[in-house]
Amino acid sequence: MSYAGRSVSRGRAVGRALLIVGRKRQFFRAEITAERVEPEIARFQAAVAYASKQLEALIAKPPTQNAADIFDAHLLILDSSSFLESVASVIRSDLVTAEWALKTVTDRLVSSQKASSDVHLRQKAVDIEDVSERVANALAGGKSPLPDLPPNTVLIATELLPSTLMEFAASLPAAIITERGGWTSHTFILARESNIPAVSGIKRVNRRFDDGDLVVVDGDNGTVTFASKEEFENFLGDEHGPGAASTGTWETDDTAASGFRLFVNIDSTEKIKRGLDRGALGVGLIRSEYLFPGIKGWPDEERQFQAYLAAAEAADGSEIRIRTFDFDLDQVSFGGREPEKNPALGMRAIRLALARERNFRTQLRAILRANTKGNISIILPMIGGVQDIKQVRSLIDDEFGRLEGVQFPKIGAMIELPSAVLVIDQILKYVDFLSVGTNDLVQYTLGVDRDDEMVADWYQSLHPAILRSIERVIEAAKAVGKPVSLCGEMAGSPFYVPLLAGLGADEFSVKLSSLPVVRRILKNIDRTHLEEIVRVVRELDTPQAVEEALVAAYRTYWPDLRLTRT
Ligand code: PEP
Ligand code: MG
Repeated sequence: MSYAGRSVSRGRAVGRALLIVGRKRQFFRAEITAERVEPEIARFQAAVAYASKQLEALIAKPPTQNAADIFDAHLLILDSSSFLESVASVIRSDLVTAEWALKTVTDRLVSSQKASSDVHLRQKAVDIEDVSERVANALAGGKSPLPDLPPNTVLIATELLPSTLMEFAASLPAAIITERGGWTSHTFILARESNIPAVSGIKRVNRRFDDGDLVVVDGDNGTVTFASKEEFENFLGDEHGPGAASTGTWETDDTAASGFRLFVNIDSTEKIKRGLDRGALGVGLIRSEYLFPGIKGWPDEERQFQAYLAAAEAADGSEIRIRTFDFDLDQVSFGGREPEKNPALGMRAIRLALARERNFRTQLRAILRANTKGNISIILPMIGGVQDIKQVRSLIDDEFGRLEGVQFPKIGAMIELPSAVLVIDQILKYVDFLSVGTNDLVQYTLGVDRDDEMVADWYQSLHPAILRSIERVIEAAKAVGKPVSLCGEMAGSPFYVPLLAGLGADEFSVKLSSLPVVRRILKNIDRTHLEEIVRVVRELDTPQAVEEALVAAYRTYWPDLRLTRT
């Protein structure tokens, strides 16, 4: 039996399946020792108490009378001793975490309600799921770390959260299989960075595999098959076995890529020095939300200050550009509200920051305090126009005015929205530099969810609208002498780099593992050919035609450069 999906991170691995469940706080069937039973039950009880308080608050101020009745019913479920006792008894008898026990009891209750002939009881299944989700969120707020993964684990999830993968930093999985998540989703950016093969787009993935199944993940061809025990053992003994995939080799080549400026994108401080050692001029993008693995929501000021200071020091005088938190609402609130229907279009990034001014000021203050040497710049995510920047600048001015011994940072805007492209001349008046986030620019310009595999064929980085947008932004920035760096996944992909350079890009910010290959390409391409390529591409009106023209041009001009997509 073979399942065909889409390759989102190359390489091949054989390993044991481990199902990851949960929407906000993800978890798996993990066992605990007998001594952990009572603390685990206490943790569960605390989560139930927290969830009950939320419900009481909602009942006190219900949006509608109908809602009050529903929340009342939910509170009754939480108060019922059978629910609490059942979960505690699963923790005790199966020696599993509170999350897993809650899931077990919920699944059991829901399936018995659904099987009922009484329509009211069948409907109650939804309420049980709802209450269970609320308690699971409360458990997530409690910051208990996930246990390490067993060796040779293949993670299987409908959608794997990047924060979940980050939590496994000390025990990386051998491979990943998911239903959702595209090439530019953060989880797979991280997977490629760590050389973890991954296949996405396998429908109903959680039902096809069980914990412990042996599977082969072929990240080159985007397929998954079951493995025999023999194949698994051979793989472990093989030189390509586990470890080989994640060691990664670096091409050492210290020659500068003439005329181009190369920066590194990082998600942890320890990668800064490695990036600089590999020739990056500085850090072009720190996704600040990744500096705090295991912490859900806004970290406190001191913790942030220490992290930004450590990053600034690790850079040893080179510039580091810290992007303010690119959270969505779901990542910073635990229970008590309906999920947004369209989070990508909702309360996220700079919007969420401005809406939660107190939390945003905390982050700005922590960044400013860390800027004692003046090598920190701030990037603002998802800027829609000048209004957002003006508001942020006034907060920065205000916080800066209260501090001493620190330097004023450079401020840049992420260009990810079509509106920002259209008013780029106005935006440039209020910022010191631009960072083009092609991952989101493609998503928002083409209206294609970057995490939805089902529409991956419409996620067309070579769409003429994207190429025109990129060219327009670069031209506008150059016209006023301000730097513009390309920092989405396109910038680190050998296939797109020559085209981006042809469109005028001279600053690239790429993940650590892409630095050597991007530098090699930039060193070996010459501008006359780039101009010729762009002249041809400008006349084309479909992504397919652009792709074919690029393949042909690369074959002619640089047959030795291996200009593949990943
Ligand atoms: C982008 O959108 O291209 C980008 C660099 O930011 P992120 O991938 O974090 O959304
Ligand atoms: Mg983005």
